Amino acid sequence: MVLLEALNLEVRYGGISAVKGISLAIEPGEMVCLIGANGAGKTSTLKALARLLPSSGEIYYGGEHIEKLPAHALISRGLALVPEGRGVFARLSVAENLDMGAYHRNDKDIESDLQRVFQLLPRLKERQHQLAGTLSGGEQQMLAIGRALMGRPKLLLLDEPSMGLAPLMVHKVFEVIRDIAAQGVTILLVEQNARLALEVCSRGYVMESGQITIADKAEALAADPRVRAAYLGE
Ligand code: ATP
Repeated sequence: MVLLEALNLEVRYGGISAVKGISLAIEPGEMVCLIGANGAGKTSTLKALARLLPSSGEIYYGGEHIEKLPAHALISRGLALVPEGRGVFARLSVAENLDMGAYHRNDKDIESDLQRVFQLLPRLKERQHQLAGTLSGGEQQMLAIGRALMGRPKLLLLDEPSMGLAPLMVHKVFEVIRDIAAQGVTILLVEQNARLALEVCSRGYVMESGQITIADKAEALAADPRVRAAYLGE
């Protein structure tokens, strides 16, 4: 069974093709990474999957064609993107940012989900009345993840969660990502820190100049001389 599948996905910016007809598939419960250099097309891929960018090719999610659906329709189907640079609302409080993650919901479980997010990310509870713009980079990353969790995602697309964070904070953020995966959320992780990505994920894709050049189990990628030379600094 497949939760998300892209076939011949292509993203163009004017005359430039940033994603050149890639195919990928993710099963429920998997944690998969997409690694590659700056400008390889990773962010464009995630945005296209979340329908935040127009693309050609086919995308199936939960057995349904989603190419023609708007982004908000995917959020209510449980597909959430945590963007590169976090995208928190700087002038809203932590609690208000978390509320925004549930804006499309009107069920009775929002409050209990908020408590679950606070349990997973206790720092957010401590800082719930603070303006998001005054949080540290790591705290903002936690907030962006917490906000996505408020939408009850089945599939979480994470774009560069380690970007700009101190090593200790990177470690904490990845612990949280592991906890989320352990709760059964399927994850597609874009990371420049390939070493870390291959440690936490079971499978990965290597992207170069808009194409997927290698797809394999994480262990095999970590042992692959091409990956070691290009992405693991060996
Ligand atoms: P990074 O890690 O640096 O974000 P990436 O692998 O995520 O890299 P993308 O951000 O998807 O790569 O960019 C892929 C290519 O598309 C790059 O050559 C980039 O310059 C180009 N690109 C991205 N966004 C735009 C845009 N809005 N307009 C024109 N070109 C763009």
